[in-house]
Amino acid sequence: MFTLPATELTKKFKSKELTAKEIVTAFLKRCKEENLGALLSILEKTALAKAALLDERLAKGEVLGSLAAVPVIVKDNIMIQGETLTCGSKFLEDYKATYTATVVKKLEDEGAIIIAKANMDEFAMGSSTEKSAFKPCNNPWNEKCTPGGSSGGSAAAVAARLAPLSLGSDTGGSVRQPAAFCGIYGFKPTYGRISRYGLVAFASSLDQIGPFSTNIDDLALISSVINKPCLQDSTSIQEPPEDYSASLSGEIKGLKIGVPTDMLEGLHPDIKTSYDTFLETLKKKGATTVPITLPNNKYSVPVYYILAPAEASTNLARFDGIRYTKRSKCAKNLNEVYELSRTEGFGPEVVNRILLGTYVLSAGYQDAYYRKAQKVRSLICKDYDTAFQQCDVIAFPTTPAPAFVHGSITDPLTMYKQDIFTISANMAGLPSLSIPAGFTKDGLPIGMQVQARQMDDGLVMNVAKAFELETEHFSKIPASCGELK
Ligand code: GLN
Repeated sequence: MFTLPATELTKKFKSKELTAKEIVTAFLKRCKEENLGALLSILEKTALAKAALLDERLAKGEVLGSLAAVPVIVKDNIMIQGETLTCGSKFLEDYKATYTATVVKKLEDEGAIIIAKANMDEFAMGSSTEKSAFKPCNNPWNEKCTPGGSSGGSAAAVAARLAPLSLGSDTGGSVRQPAAFCGIYGFKPTYGRISRYGLVAFASSLDQIGPFSTNIDDLALISSVINKPCLQDSTSIQEPPEDYSASLSGEIKGLKIGVPTDMLEGLHPDIKTSYDTFLETLKKKGATTVPITLPNNKYSVPVYYILAPAEASTNLARFDGIRYTKRSKCAKNLNEVYELSRTEGFGPEVVNRILLGTYVLSAGYQDAYYRKAQKVRSLICKDYDTAFQQCDVIAFPTTPAPAFVHGSITDPLTMYKQDIFTISANMAGLPSLSIPAGFTKDGLPIGMQVQARQMDDGLVMNVAKAFELETEHFSKIPASCGELK
């Protein structure tokens, strides 16, 4: 059951081969036994209650949704009313969400069952899940390595078959980089396509919720369920949802793939080889490649580390020891409530970002840093506009190197460079998908990224379908999963 795609699992439930209770009980057991550090909480009681209800409804002959009885894990910065929501931070250790995120509602409307909350870097700041205030998370392919981050728990969980599907959030690469490191699909949709209501904001102009899956059909299915317009998110695109499953013909004859020739230096040799194979495979299916350039991409990391902290410093101002968070026991007056609660509650990476953001927004430096970065962001977007005059999609590796060993990156700037290939899609609000595309000689997964114009989310998924039809990388399961039935 653990290796079945979500599409199959729900069929087996609807045809009464498996009950929802059997499915959920089995996955909950895997979750309880996991020792990767992928999960922060397990929602056993509510999951079992929902499973029982689905079994009753099926017995009554009700028609159930497209994800009926499918277990899903969500990153712990996405709210479910009454459940703990830590954002990977000690500050929110005891916080219970007061409402439910739109994405979770949409999933539940289709019968999905949320079984656990996933580990993450504190407030989604990081690329390794080592910055979780609770515990690090290991990569199921090699437990000495990180799963990437910040949605490392969600990625490791799906790779380890703790659930067929999970949700993460991607502000600069936090869905795609861990997907690449863990050998699964991870999708950042067009900005505004998936509601952010109930996602704890990090950098609101860049944040998007995105799904993880082991195969492209499942990814299209879950994306089609959560891509509905939402009135509670003012940036939500008010257009009818699309059925991405209908885009998955695998037919890509005549598709023009942009190859950013100015971005391919310094790749890990095995990733370079995989990239070449990736393009060759797509060419055999009738696509052509076109050289393009994204000349301002080299500024994407510095621009991101001005804009994202600036937005984070304002978004995180609400965590003040008064409303949501733990209050310092040492505080003797109002100022100390703010100061001490924040000092005790936030981890060092979060403090760095808040300081950086406050600095670049301060009166004397706003023009020099924040406004300048905004201008460069526009240039990065313009590069894409120019490139998309010559091609339909752009393809390049998700990361320049595979998963790294825990503790091996200590310098923040080196860690920040993890996102060198992923940030620009957030800057421009483009759909971008990391596709499992093979393994290094050491057996670590490799991911290739396909990006397209805004709202071409279905096209990106269809490129993945074309590749998936020709390969088996996606179906590989880490040895650490043991014998799976
Ligand atoms: N690694 C990036 C950061 O630390 C991106 C994080 C994300 O996408 N949430 O900010």
